[in-house]
Amino acid sequence: MDPNQHPECVFCRIIGGDEMVSVIHEDDDIIAFLDIQPLFPGHVLVVPKAHYKNLFYVPEELAARTFATAQRLLPGLRRATGCRAVNLFSPNGAAGGQDVFHFHLHLIPVPEGSPFPLQLPDPNAEVPTRSQLDVMAAHVGRCIHDESCGKGAADEQGSMAAASA
Ligand SMILES: [Zn+2]
Repeated sequence: MDPNQHPECVFCRIIGGDEMVSVIHEDDDIIAFLDIQPLFPGHVLVVPKAHYKNLFYVPEELAARTFATAQRLLPGLRRATGCRAVNLFSPNGAAGGQDVFHFHLHLIPVPEGSPFPLQLPDPNAEVPTRSQLDVMAAHVGRCIHDESCGKGAADEQGSMAAASA
């Protein structure tokens, strides 16, 4: 796929060579480069070259390759930054903070003593009862296997990526 068929997408312009970027890895399907607004030094974005809006639309094989590439980069990223911890993050939807609608994984080295912004479990989180958890689990389980379940709740901005997928 020619990434330039999405000229409105900054990652497609990067992949097409139309934007400056500091590349740390590139192969036929995947490119990895430094985030220009790093959370910590060495913050990397791992991006499949084909344009898919987010993980909801990426073919399973390409998603697997993206994660496998991220895994292969981890040891070198750790050696390069001296960080023992490298976190993965992938926003999948505007409500979750996705700002570039071309699937990507963040690899974020976390220096010792620097608290990561997202700490789980959240110490202020309300703990549901077991029966509340069981009800939610049953509901999610139904929706995983039945596409008519919870219909209309999701699929925000899905039309463009679906058309290109
Ligand atoms: Zn793109």
